[in-house]
Amino acid sequence: MSEIIVAGAGHGGLVTAIKLAAAGHKVTVYDKQKKGEYYLDQRDSFEAGSMEYAGIEIPEHYRAKSNSLTFVPVGEGTPALTLPAKEGSETLTVERKELHEYLLSLAENAGAQIVYETAIDSPVVLGSRIAGIRTDKGTFYADLVIDACGMNSPVRSNLPAFAMIEKAPAHFDVLHTYRAYFENIKDAPRPETDYNLYLFNDGTEGLMWLVTDENYTDALIARFGETAYNELAPHLHTLSLRNPQMGTKLLRGGYFVDIPVRQPLAVLVADGYAAVGDSAFMTYSLKGSGIAYSIRAGTMLANAVLADETGFFTAETLWEYEKQFFREIGFGACRIAIAKNFLPYVTAEEVDRMFSTGLISSEELEAFSEGRLETVIKGRFFSTLKSKLQILGEMPELRSKLLTIVSNIGRFAAVEPSFPNKFERADVEKWAEKYNGFFNSIRRSDTEESGILTTD
Ligand SMILES: Cc1cc2nc3c(=O)[nH]c(=O)nc-3n(C[C@H](O)[C@H](O)[C@H](O)COP(=O)(O)OP(=O)(O)OC[C@H]3O[C@@H](n4cnc5c(N)ncnc54)[C@H](O)[C@@H]3O)c2cc1C
Repeated sequence: MSEIIVAGAGHGGLVTAIKLAAAGHKVTVYDKQKKGEYYLDQRDSFEAGSMEYAGIEIPEHYRAKSNSLTFVPVGEGTPALTLPAKEGSETLTVERKELHEYLLSLAENAGAQIVYETAIDSPVVLGSRIAGIRTDKGTFYADLVIDACGMNSPVRSNLPAFAMIEKAPAHFDVLHTYRAYFENIKDAPRPETDYNLYLFNDGTEGLMWLVTDENYTDALIARFGETAYNELAPHLHTLSLRNPQMGTKLLRGGYFVDIPVRQPLAVLVADGYAAVGDSAFMTYSLKGSGIAYSIRAGTMLANAVLADETGFFTAETLWEYEKQFFREIGFGACRIAIAKNFLPYVTAEEVDRMFSTGLISSEELEAFSEGRLETVIKGRFFSTLKSKLQILGEMPELRSKLLTIVSNIGRFAAVEPSFPNKFERADVEKWAEKYNGFFNSIRRSDTEESGILTTD
């Protein structure tokens, strides 16, 4: 039996805690929140398959009617594009707090101890090993620290340089997001679709959505770069003009929170340490949906820990987790991250033109937004490339931006094979350098003017 600390009660960490405690390990989860409280007051959707993958029973009321996303253009008269309904993929929708309580109760029932109101400050580093955590309630030691502290994890950001783990996200890696639920004025006119996504039309980089439910309208406004409350007004105004059913009475939420939208960490593990969930930037980088990735990754991590019979939990044995994660999720997530890189550059007018000229179909948009760029590349997109390029002839900047994405996907294909099969320090160092170097080279810098994408 080993002593395992789960630092932060993130989704992936709780899934790992459930499995490791059930297998007889002494698992302690530390979280800064109070018992029964949760810092986000919202409902979330995620893929049902992730719970099945983890072997976690799905409460029936989580099962929801799937809502197809509609991209609504800025221009009057430009048709909106609704993504096709997905066959065979079920969505769950649940109150965030309820899901958190459910996973906590499963972890406790499996034998894990949950310690609330404990703020983690940094990792304990002994030689090359992560040997515990420092908190406001004292220092705690363990054979393995699982970092599920979220995007701003103080464990990850205080790791020593030799761990080769990136400490902080960059400017265009984070969406500063306002989420608020307003009343639904039932007798007001409302758009044909209920789940509508809009790009900003004022030259700032970001997006917003309005989801209409029977009992509320759910507004989300997300921007790269800090946003102040007084900057929200024009965006809320735009949403309400396009959605007369959106009332002004705030029902719940109404806070800013950050979502990582980037590629996962190049290196997830060190001796005695593994990052999972947002602490490893495991979100879906166009939407920031990370619950499903976290639940799947938490399962993979538990499997790697259980397979390590030595109980040393070195980077070598934990690499099995990283390997499985990249094969099943990470490389796909990278392609989505490359596509996302388009977002800070594209203007709302360009999206309008793409829709109105038929440059991109709803199927292509769906494949693009899920990082299934192979589908786009192998499908009709390229067989009709000639006519598309003619359309693009009138939009040279957009043409250049789209061709850069295609070329970046090609460049990433050359990075992928350098992923090491085993944790050999020199190989992992080379991999991290290549991977981070690639994403640094395609990432828009925070001082750059919005315009043509450049690559090195
Ligand atoms: C507005 C918004 C909407 C979203 N919508 C969706 C959605 O619909 N679907 C979806 O799949 N995902 C969504 N996400 C993303 C999702 O929240 C995360 O990707 C997912 O929760 C995985 O993150 P996590 O559980 O690893 O970390 P977190 O959810 O950040 O949890 C981290 C945990 O660590 C604790 N913690 C943090 N710091 C410390 C510390 N210093 N000491 C002790 N404890 C600490 C926190 O209290 C928390 O319990 C959304 C995120 C936001 C912000």
